[in-house]
Amino acid sequence: MPDTHDPAGTGADAPAGPGGRRIGLRADCANCFGLCCVALPFAASADFAITKDAGRPCPNLRDDFRCGIHARLRDSGFPGCTVYDCFGAGQKVSQVTFGRSWRDEPRTAARMFEVFPVMRHLHELLWYLDEALALPAARPIHAELRGAFEETERLTTGTPDDLLGVDVAAHREKVNMLLLRTSELVRAPAGGRAPDRRGADLIGARLRKADLRGANLRGAYLIGADLRGADLRWADLIGADLRGADLGGADLTQSVFLTQAQVNAAKGDEATKLPPGLTRPSHWSGPAARPPAAAGRAPARRPRPRRR
Ligand code: SF4
Repeated sequence: MPDTHDPAGTGADAPAGPGGRRIGLRADCANCFGLCCVALPFAASADFAITKDAGRPCPNLRDDFRCGIHARLRDSGFPGCTVYDCFGAGQKVSQVTFGRSWRDEPRTAARMFEVFPVMRHLHELLWYLDEALALPAARPIHAELRGAFEETERLTTGTPDDLLGVDVAAHREKVNMLLLRTSELVRAPAGGRAPDRRGADLIGARLRKADLRGANLRGAYLIGADLRGADLRWADLIGADLRGADLGGADLTQSVFLTQAQVNAAKGDEATKLPPGLTRPSHWSGPAARPPAAAGRAPARRPRPRRR
């Protein structure tokens, strides 16, 4: 659907993904009231052509909640929109939590925009938990992971008041402990020789053909890094900033906690191997492929992958 507002490029018809529970965890913009285009602020930068306050609709948002420049976001100066993923929070808030749009029910608008980021946090955790549950290496803690998945899912079905009362930071911390244990179990076969680059500043790093199997790259800054031909199997990439990183020919087939938004933010080519459930961004094939934001340029104010 060329005119469908689908900022993350993660259409609902994409593969279900590792755990098969991802149907509701992919952005389904056709069933969303354009929440990310209204609720979130952004600043004029390499990622966005304009500055917009939270709660104000983007001027490109059409009356039917679709993006009027969807097919040319990058060329129009909005590459930041192509690397944002709500993990299905938009349609959940729109269709389940509220049911009526902020246009039809303006008095609920402010509340809907407050609930949206809470739901996004919860859906992002569900995404990671789903992936962890599909990893055979994490089998020893599957019961705990399943419990965390069910608890998080229950939180997403609350009323607006319930959702605004969720201690997101505390819940994230609890889930993150399980994700850390998952990461250790997955990376263990690398035998402890894998580099620990958690949160490392690797902006522009030359890592061509690097052996990064089992590396801990949680929250690492890999903006503009040269990762061509790198072996990233079993590497933990949760929250890693891959904007403009060159993944040409890199092997990410068994990397963990990599999201579509991270892939969309990077560069790659036909030889890049992606994990199951993630799709090759359309801009990788064209000659005009360029990073959404170059190292050192003004950062977007829109939410980026969480550091862990
Ligand atoms: S340009 Fe505006 S309407 Fe289009 S995806 Fe970005 S925020 Fe949404």
